Amino acid sequence: MRLTHKIALVSNSAQRDYFCRAAGTNRFTWNWGLAEWNRQHESGRKPSAMRLKKQFNAIKYAQFPWFVDMHRDSHAQAFEHLARAWNKFFADLKAGARRAPDSKEERRRLKKMGVRLAYRPCFKRKGQCEDSFYVANDKFKLDGKSIRLPKIGLVEMTEALRYEGKILGATVSRTADRWFVAIQVDVPDAKAMRRRTADVIEGVDLGVKAAATLSSGETIEAPKPLKAALRRLKIRGRRLSRRLEAAKVRAGIKRGGRIPKGTRLPVSNNRMKDSRALARLHARIANVRTDFTHKLSTRLCRESQAVVIEDLNVKGMLANEKLARAISDVGFGMFRRQIEYKAKLFDTRLVLADRWYPSSKFCSACGTKNEALALSDRTWTCAACGTHHDRDHNAAINLQRLATVTALPAAKLASNGDTATGKVPAVDGKVTPARHEFGQQDGSGQEKNRAHLCAPS
Ligand SMILES: [Zn+2]
Repeated sequence: MRLTHKIALVSNSAQRDYFCRAAGTNRFTWNWGLAEWNRQHESGRKPSAMRLKKQFNAIKYAQFPWFVDMHRDSHAQAFEHLARAWNKFFADLKAGARRAPDSKEERRRLKKMGVRLAYRPCFKRKGQCEDSFYVANDKFKLDGKSIRLPKIGLVEMTEALRYEGKILGATVSRTADRWFVAIQVDVPDAKAMRRRTADVIEGVDLGVKAAATLSSGETIEAPKPLKAALRRLKIRGRRLSRRLEAAKVRAGIKRGGRIPKGTRLPVSNNRMKDSRALARLHARIANVRTDFTHKLSTRLCRESQAVVIEDLNVKGMLANEKLARAISDVGFGMFRRQIEYKAKLFDTRLVLADRWYPSSKFCSACGTKNEALALSDRTWTCAACGTHHDRDHNAAINLQRLATVTALPAAKLASNGDTATGKVPAVDGKVTPARHEFGQQDGSGQEKNRAHLCAPS
């Protein structure tokens, strides 16, 4: 099993300087490769990453002398990434995606309509792309809480590598003003497996009001860091843009005017400070969110033999501007990716309820479908049996049932038998514990999911 451990580096200013330059050469190489790719393509040739790399290696020291100071790994990976980006673009086109138009408004309009777009690889720009570079597995050495990197030597890490196994490689990257090393390890399955502490079968109803409602009745609130930090973000953003305007005036550009291409604005220390503060705030927001989704996904997998979640169309929901902020603030997309790989680690069965499965509408006590249930109804009473339901809890129970009735044979129940199963009536409705596909939406029912997430209480 391939796992990655990302560890913060405790670096000095000389090391950070090297990291910046290495990330810069990586970006430069990508841009060189892309320009050359485009040029060859226009002249009717068929470019390949391998040939481009050879071509680049033949000229790099003569044309770009600063490459002599950099370790070759820092720019060896760019061509492979470029090839991957092109392959993805062509694969997306083949799968029916539309070529993304150049205009931003046009792209937004198409996305709102639910059109899938294929993006050509684009040029990277300093400050607008991730700063990172690769280090091959035979070029670095780990020793407890330190790593020996080429050209700069020993760098301290905040913790030791967590996984045992064959080290495949590492990527050094920057977030705000901190540098990290992400080490990929091929961990033998026997070592990677984690122990479960309980064997419940859990249905999880995801929402914006409460991030998760479990079939056991527990509701889990998300921290919503963006909402909390929005005011501070605005203040810091405004402060930075004022500094930028001042720099423009100093460079002789009028207030609010466009910066001509190729102009370098003077960078003041205060502008640097402010931009760092803004980046740190963004990083903090992301950290709070990641911490929450990691803890929730780990907990669910650790304590359950089966977890049932709705197969929400997160990308589709994000196209809804009103909802996008609230949804991305909870981090559903991230949660989904995490729970998928952690389910493997804990040998937990992950069941995905069909996207159109009306989990809220069935009465979990008698199985009657309440067609009249409105999106604004947070609680309701079943007309057939008189049970009073909390909307989300009822949905979670119905989801849980998908694992107990259809997906999980009784023989699979674990030995300590701490399951929430009982004799339950089969529910009608489409149940497909199927894999997720980001396909085009026909719009039917998608609104249900969106509205379900913003339903007022
Ligand atoms: Zn009922």
